[in-house]
Amino acid sequence: MIDLPFLDGQVAAVMGLGRSGLSAAQALARSGARVWAWDDNAESRAKAEAKGVALVDLAACDWNRPALLVWSPGIPHTWPQPHPVAEAARAHGRPIVCDVDLLLQARPRVPNVAITGTNGKSTTTALIGHILAQAGRRVAVGGNLGTPALDLEALDDDGIYVLELSSYQLELVPSAGFGVSILLNITPDHLGRHGGMDGYIAAKRRIFETQAKPGLAVIAIDDEPCRRIQAELLGLGRSVTAVSAQGFVKGGVSVVGGTLIDDSEGREAAILDLGRLPTLPGQHNWQNAAAAYAAARAFGLQAQTIAAGIASYPGLAHRQERVAALDGILFVNDSKATNADAAEKALGCYDTVYWIAGGLAKEGGIDSLAPLFGRIRHAFLIGQAAPAFARTLAAHHVAHSLVGDLGGATRAAYALARAEGKPGAVVLLAPACASWDQFKSFEERGERFRLLVNDLLLAKEARA
Ligand code: ADP
Repeated sequence: MIDLPFLDGQVAAVMGLGRSGLSAAQALARSGARVWAWDDNAESRAKAEAKGVALVDLAACDWNRPALLVWSPGIPHTWPQPHPVAEAARAHGRPIVCDVDLLLQARPRVPNVAITGTNGKSTTTALIGHILAQAGRRVAVGGNLGTPALDLEALDDDGIYVLELSSYQLELVPSAGFGVSILLNITPDHLGRHGGMDGYIAAKRRIFETQAKPGLAVIAIDDEPCRRIQAELLGLGRSVTAVSAQGFVKGGVSVVGGTLIDDSEGREAAILDLGRLPTLPGQHNWQNAAAAYAAARAFGLQAQTIAAGIASYPGLAHRQERVAALDGILFVNDSKATNADAAEKALGCYDTVYWIAGGLAKEGGIDSLAPLFGRIRHAFLIGQAAPAFARTLAAHHVAHSLVGDLGGATRAAYALARAEGKPGAVVLLAPACASWDQFKSFEERGERFRLLVNDLLLAKEARA
């Protein structure tokens, strides 16, 4: 738990009382601050009040009093329209921060690594945490992933904070100093919240603007916006390690044909064959591994220690998680593939796919996945998006059925894969959709899939 003694005796406004907001309100109260907390949702307010959080309507309060405004990143403050509470704080010159900013203000001397990107943040964050912990370093891992920043352990100067940062959080870290900053990739996402692609890129770029000196920027240069940011930082004389999963990078870290190559010290060295690691399948994960390697090197770890850490990475739940193998069929849970881009990465890893997809549709549908349709033996469609996905698949002559729910889809996919007996068959849950039409979260969807696969295993045991 992080204490914030510099706010002792001050009024601190907290907007948004979800997980990170509640954690911030509690840290502030513990530290002697006077908390004025609010949420536009009455149910969230009632829950917070039951936990002893003091409520004050921030749209109607005296803005001369709060020293700052702690904002929950999930709440839009500027786009699509300005939020009145954020406007009031700005009009009074009050800093608007998120919990990560407070963490770094509270522990300024503890080294940290911050990770952002459109996709791969959680994987890279977890991987770096694992590599450093395996090497005997004391780490606390959180931020956008898992534990909220102010619930992390109060590390001493020999520890390392490993922090996942969303684009929303990066708009709320005015004072944070990141030691090692990683940018993985930028593709269009959350554009409504950032007022368009330029706003989104600007938010991602902030991971370098707030960088502590001396700091290292690690940038995967596999897309155009990231290459532009790399060029800008080099122009400013900043220390940059470029990484790529698409080809050799002179002076950087790259993955060529599955082999991780370190040329960051001008001595091209082959470090590890990533191609054989089941927990980091696909070129997209090679990008994550290369960035994690570069960050770990920056903390002084030896190449072979990092290689051992990458090789022993256990993987994250719901991200191409290998749930079980049954009758030669592999069941993979990629419930986190909530958009077509992420589902594309998963489909690209396997040749014979029994694909479970659908849920609450995102803009653009699955047209962009057409180049991968040849890998799909049959698609089992669920949720609201099923009819639209069916139309796209029919237009490309891909076999599919509308099966309603995840239970029906899992059983039907198994039955067909078993009947066909193809080598390398994979039942893949990679929905390319949000989960909210049928589940509370992508986690709940993935857990349900795991239970359903377990039922199949038990039924097979009973038959034997
Ligand atoms: P995030 O935290 O950024 O959402 P995750 O590590 O949770 O990222 O991965 C989310 C999804 O994105 C996964 O299902 C995976 O298929 C895909 N993915 C992971 N890493 C990358 C990457 N480097 N580039 C593109 N897609 C990726």
